[in-house]
Amino acid sequence: MKPSILIEKTTQSRLGTVDFSAIKFGKICADHFFSADFQNGKWENLQISPYKNLSLSPATSALHYGQSIFEGMKAYRNEHHDAFIFRPYDHLQRFNRSAKRMCMPEIPADVFIQGLTELIRIDQSWIPTKLGDSLYIRPFMFGTDEFLGARPSESYKFIIFTSPANPYYLQPMNIKIETQYARATEGGTGFTKCAGNYGAAFYPTALAMQEGYHQILWTDSHEHLYVEEAGTMNIIFVIDDILITPALSETILQGITRDSILTLAKEWKLPIEERKVKISEVIKAITENRLQEAFGVGTAATIAPIGMIGYKNENYTIPVGNISSFSQKILAALENIRRGKEQDKFNWLIKI
Ligand SMILES: *Cc1c(COP(=O)(O)O)cnc(C)c1O
Repeated sequence: MKPSILIEKTTQSRLGTVDFSAIKFGKICADHFFSADFQNGKWENLQISPYKNLSLSPATSALHYGQSIFEGMKAYRNEHHDAFIFRPYDHLQRFNRSAKRMCMPEIPADVFIQGLTELIRIDQSWIPTKLGDSLYIRPFMFGTDEFLGARPSESYKFIIFTSPANPYYLQPMNIKIETQYARATEGGTGFTKCAGNYGAAFYPTALAMQEGYHQILWTDSHEHLYVEEAGTMNIIFVIDDILITPALSETILQGITRDSILTLAKEWKLPIEERKVKISEVIKAITENRLQEAFGVGTAATIAPIGMIGYKNENYTIPVGNISSFSQKILAALENIRRGKEQDKFNWLIKI
C-alpha cells in the first residue's frame, strides 16, 4: 500500500524570484519540503508543506548527542522537460546503513521513495534545465526527544528539502595530505554520513586552508601512510593508464559517484585497481611523470580535478585533465546518462 502523504501547497511560490543563472549553492530552497515523524515505533505524519522554519526545544537530543544523518543526491531535467532522480535507491540504502550505525530507526523504502518522488513532482519547475545544472536533494534525519539523558532518542524527524544548483566550475584543487588529524578510524563512523564526521573535519580543514590549500587528503588514522578520501569526496588517480582508487572500508564513505565511475570504466574495459594506495606510491608516480590525473568524485561536483598535492612541506604539481582525459570523458558520459541522452543501461534514473 502506498503511504498517504498530506499535501499542503504554497500559495506564494518563490520560483519567479530566482535567477537560475547565478545560484549560490545551498542558499535557495525550493517551495516545499517533505517531513515524517518517528514516534511510538512507527513513521507517521507524512506531509509535504511549504518550506518553513522548524520549531525545536533547546533539549532536542540531536543537538546534544549528534544523532543526525543525511544524504545528498540530485534530480535532473532533459530538454523534453522530463525529470529524473539519479540512483535514489542507492542513496536510500546508504541512508539506512548510516541510521543503523547511529542507532536510529531505518526509513522504509516506500516512505523515502514516495516522499521523494512526490516532492520532486510538486517542485519540478525548480529543476534547472541548463547542461550541468541540477536540483540538489538533501534528505536528513535527527533525534527529537526533548530529554537531556545521553541515550538514543525514541523519536526522530525525517525531512527532504531541495536546492537548485549550478555546476561547480572548480579551479583545480590544491590539497594537503593530512598526517596529524584523522577523519575516520576502524570501528568508527567513517562509512556513514553522520553530522559529526563533518563537524570534526572543519578544524583540520581550516588549518589546511590557512596554509593555502582548498581541501585535505585524508589518510589512515594509524600511520598516515595510505590515502583515504579528498575532503568529502572519494579520490581516483590515473597512473600508467590505470584507474587507482582506495578500496572501500569502514573508514571510507561508499560514494555513489565513485561507483558510477567505476561501473562505466569497467564497461569501457579500462584497467581498474581498488586497493590500498600508499602516499609514497602517489608521490613517486608524480615525480616520475607517470601520474596522469587525480580527482575527487562526489555528487556535489561529480569530478573535482586536483592540481597540486602538498606533503611534508613539499608541493607537487599534478597535470590537469584535458578534453581527452579520462575524467572529462567520464563527466560527459555521466551527464549524458543523467539527461537521458544516452541509454541508462544500469537503471540509475528514476523518472518522475
Ligand atoms: C558524500 C560523500 C562522498 C561522496 O559520495 P557520493 O555518493 O558520490 O556523493 C565521499 N566521501 C564523503 C566523506 C562523503 O560524505
